[in-house]
Amino acid sequence: MPGREPSAMTAAGGAGGAGHRLPTDTDDGLLLIISGPSGVGKTTITRAVERAIPGAVFSVSVTTRQKTAGDVEGVDYHFVSDAEFDRLVADDELLEWAEVFGRRYGTPRKWADEQLRRGRLVILEIDVKGARQVKERMPGAFGVFILPPSEEALLQRLRARRRDTEEAIARRFAEAQREIAEAKACGAYDAFVVNDELERAIEEAVGVVRGRMGIMKDEG
Ligand code: ADP
Ligand code: 5GP
Repeated sequence: MPGREPSAMTAAGGAGGAGHRLPTDTDDGLLLIISGPSGVGKTTITRAVERAIPGAVFSVSVTTRQKTAGDVEGVDYHFVSDAEFDRLVADDELLEWAEVFGRRYGTPRKWADEQLRRGRLVILEIDVKGARQVKERMPGAFGVFILPPSEEALLQRLRARRRDTEEAIARRFAEAQREIAEAKACGAYDAFVVNDELERAIEEAVGVVRGRMGIMKDEG
């Protein structure tokens, strides 16, 4: 693909010493990080980006959090025990990991490396702490942060999910404000997309990713 910078793959091969490159490997892969505060719409946008871009694959994280009724094992997450998560960390099998709302989440390294070697767009939907680790190890990764149109709108969306108590909503809201400030200051993100109108935000997110990939928008 024209206009591609080779840095994503170069960095992928170098992450934590994993991933010896083969002579047959291409330099086509790109690691895409999508983050945003709880309730901002990042899962909806992430899945839309995955559908819109040929060759895009979603990295299924491991987590110690409880599986909810809406979760599908192996699709949304790999649900693991604390002991299994400890083992993955000890064996250096995670590209990054972080604790979010008291539970641990991490990105399996081997799968992501393999997909990058095949030239895929590998999408990580991870928090800011995880994004900072990835950017440090793989400076060629592309980071997109999803912002709410306003603090009030985010609060409304958190309430509309009807998933949490008012106390938990207040906690998530405070965490969201902290996370947005950190995202803006830390330098891990290359683009900020405001999720005001969903279809517009999806189009913008797909546009910035295609721009990074060097694909003309009307090609795909
Ligand atoms: P996150 O993964 O960031 O927690 P989700 O993708 O699960 O967020 O979206 C949270 C809720 O907000 C969903 O019910 C989704 O349909 C809704 N939503 C997403 N984008 C918008 C938008 N632009 N306007 C209004 N509601 C939205
Ligand atoms: P949820 O439990 O609502 O699906 O996700 C909670 C938070 O964990 C979200 O901010 C999500 O982006 C983050 N998250 C999910 N998977 C990972 C991961 O593998 N690593 C990191 N660092 N964060 C993750």
